Amino acid sequence: MAESIKDIVSRTLREDICALQPYHVPVSAGMVKLDAMENPYSLPAWLKTEIVGLLGQIPFNRYPDAGGTRLKDCLRQVMKVPADMDILLGNGSDELIQMIITAVARPKAVLISVEPSFVMYRMIAALNNVQYVGVRLKEDFSLDIETLLNRISLHKPKIIFLSYPNNPTGNLFSEEDVIRIIEASPGLVVVDEAYHAFAKISFMDKLPNYPNLLVMRTISKLGLAGIRLGFLVGSKEWLEHIDKVRLPYNVNSVTQIIAQTVLDHQKVLLEQAEAVIGQRRLMTALLNKTKGVKAYPSDANFILFKVDQAEEVFKKLKEHKILIKNLHGTHSLLDNCLRVTIGTTEENQQFLQALRSSV
Ligand SMILES: *Cc1c(COP(=O)(O)O)cnc(C)c1O
Repeated sequence: MAESIKDIVSRTLREDICALQPYHVPVSAGMVKLDAMENPYSLPAWLKTEIVGLLGQIPFNRYPDAGGTRLKDCLRQVMKVPADMDILLGNGSDELIQMIITAVARPKAVLISVEPSFVMYRMIAALNNVQYVGVRLKEDFSLDIETLLNRISLHKPKIIFLSYPNNPTGNLFSEEDVIRIIEASPGLVVVDEAYHAFAKISFMDKLPNYPNLLVMRTISKLGLAGIRLGFLVGSKEWLEHIDKVRLPYNVNSVTQIIAQTVLDHQKVLLEQAEAVIGQRRLMTALLNKTKGVKAYPSDANFILFKVDQAEEVFKKLKEHKILIKNLHGTHSLLDNCLRVTIGTTEENQQFLQALRSSV
């Protein structure tokens, strides 16, 4: 009998990839979408009109500017990149994580991060046969610095990823601890500042002090998740090699022109971020006033909170057409935890109302 397609697939593809659980994106049509840390506000009409005008001028038959030169100049100014640092662009910071890990994936290379944190560090390490070591955070989600320093001296990791603030816990780590990690690390340390707009604290200005530090940012959480753009900042000596892993033209013309245009009016996005920060303050207080709910302090645009029966609450919220993120079962520190992205005032009210009838 002829071999089935499944047989051919399973003897051809990598076993670990066949066994992998795909990254799950839930269906969100018709829902109040508070699951993915998106900015809830859209761009003002005048800015959209400006973008539409510029799109008409794109030579769609040509490849994009391979170096993204104008966009990098714009980012350099807007994001206060230190003068002697280089910039590398990615199709979202997810792609940068992939590029960095591919570049360090020597045989026996170890990647250290903390747990719970952003799942992509572990997932992309696995795809590149890089050994992943996750160091458990303390009960209050702060760094277990002694254990971390121990693991660093034991494993001599080629790379350490720290999400700052941390996703999904929402807190910033102690700056002093992060510096101890950078100083103790024999390899690269990447500080992932995806939520910088909501925390406003950064390692960007410390780049010149530490030769093994890279800072990563994205414009996704700031309000442009749809166009996919992340950027990595650090010394030329690192970036010139990581750049070789990048596929040519990874950031398309449309993304380049839109990002440039919107960042020229960055104030618009920063004002939206301020509104989110205001709502975060309010929501944290209101969540903590809700019986059976404990909200953790957040420096990001989402709030982690604990209930008695997370699965139940998550399901009931879904029945109310509210989509958040259920973290129960993903890590023991997240038992009965849910994560809600800050939305508009109306969305937050809808969420709180539905939550009160669900806990
Ligand atoms: C969302 C997120 C990213 C990925 O952002 P993209 O630029 O949209 O790929 C990276 N790191 C952390 C910690 C995130 O939460």
